[in-house]
Amino acid sequence: MSVNELPKKFEEFGEARRLGFLKAKEHKDKGGRLAGIFCTFTPLEIFDAAGIVPVSLCGTSEETIPDAEVNLPKNLCPLIKSSYGFAVSDKCPYTYFSDIIVGETTCDGKKKMYELLSELKDTYILHLPQGIDRPYVLDMWESEIRLLKEKFEKKFGITITDDDVRAACVKRNKERLLKVKMFELSKSIPPKNYYKGIHKVVDSLNFTFDLDETMKNIKKMHDDIEENYKINGSPVKLTDKRIMISGCPISGVADKTIGVVEDNGGVVVVMDSCSGIKPARNLVDVEAPNIYRAIAERYIKIGCAVMTPNENRMTMIKELVDEYKVEGIIDVVLQSCHPFSVERYQVKKLSEDLGVPYMSIETDYSTSDVGQLTTRIQAFIEML
Ligand code: SF4
Ligand code: SF4
Repeated sequence: MSVNELPKKFEEFGEARRLGFLKAKEHKDKGGRLAGIFCTFTPLEIFDAAGIVPVSLCGTSEETIPDAEVNLPKNLCPLIKSSYGFAVSDKCPYTYFSDIIVGETTCDGKKKMYELLSELKDTYILHLPQGIDRPYVLDMWESEIRLLKEKFEKKFGITITDDDVRAACVKRNKERLLKVKMFELSKSIPPKNYYKGIHKVVDSLNFTFDLDETMKNIKKMHDDIEENYKINGSPVKLTDKRIMISGCPISGVADKTIGVVEDNGGVVVVMDSCSGIKPARNLVDVEAPNIYRAIAERYIKIGCAVMTPNENRMTMIKELVDEYKVEGIIDVVLQSCHPFSVERYQVKKLSEDLGVPYMSIETDYSTSDVGQLTTRIQAFIEML
């Protein structure tokens, strides 16, 4: 493989995201079911068992924010505004093709936005516990997952058996393991590739609409990077500083976070967020007698700032710093995101305890702060 082939392949994945709507249409034309989702807490195994393809409706562009601000306050996180803007302005083919939207009671802005979305589409909300330190939490979350299954059965006139759900768990576990294996290419010194390419792949997977094809793509990308590494060595310089990006989902700000780091003497080795390794990190115990309980146990471990307290995120950061030999943490907070904004205090304190330099940035989907962010990130990396 020549040195220049890999970037071309990453670009093709970027295209796949844009062209995904053709696949969505094809899927619908064949009578397929589609559901819009927004969050890592969404129990995907229930969708798979029901034969429903989940597609993320999280907005990543500022284009539709003015449409959203007709009904939503300005001082709301850009992810929420962008997502709602796409739906209300009919600019999102995935919302259009969705038979149902499934959300969770996560942050206040998102859960209230779902009420507005329900005027446009059948919208179903799972009630997520607010923390994991109460004895009833697993009972509650398990019954919410069972209620979702019943909702699907009623809406689509289908029966979902425990065997269907268990088989779906086995497959999702496989997908997660493949993803983790791809992320682990960054464990080596230097990493086997820059993260911006890997991010493009991960971001596009959501728009494949076929889990088998998704898994094939992840494996292929992993193998291509390995092969390129064996033949050409790593494109990453040994002197590049190893950065962890933490915090909010960053697909809408990838260029001014990952891109700026990697253009200025750094390399992102891991992202703890929902745009990175977090959704792939835990598996469902497929041998458990009660498969719904096992799903509940797997998802409730997600270390999101909407949980209080959120010890699981701190534990994960500690583990990732060690596993990926992180030299600096950049905590990215989307404007007006209260959960992640307040939690910066704990992450900063943890970074100090770990002896890893920390910086936090607050940003939105506009390009107006690119210059200022670049200056700050450059200074941070130079200081490492
Ligand atoms: S950051 Fe939290 S609320 Fe947002 S998608 Fe991830 S798990 Fe869901
Ligand atoms: S980034 Fe923060 S405010 Fe925005 S949807 Fe996620 S948790 Fe909510």
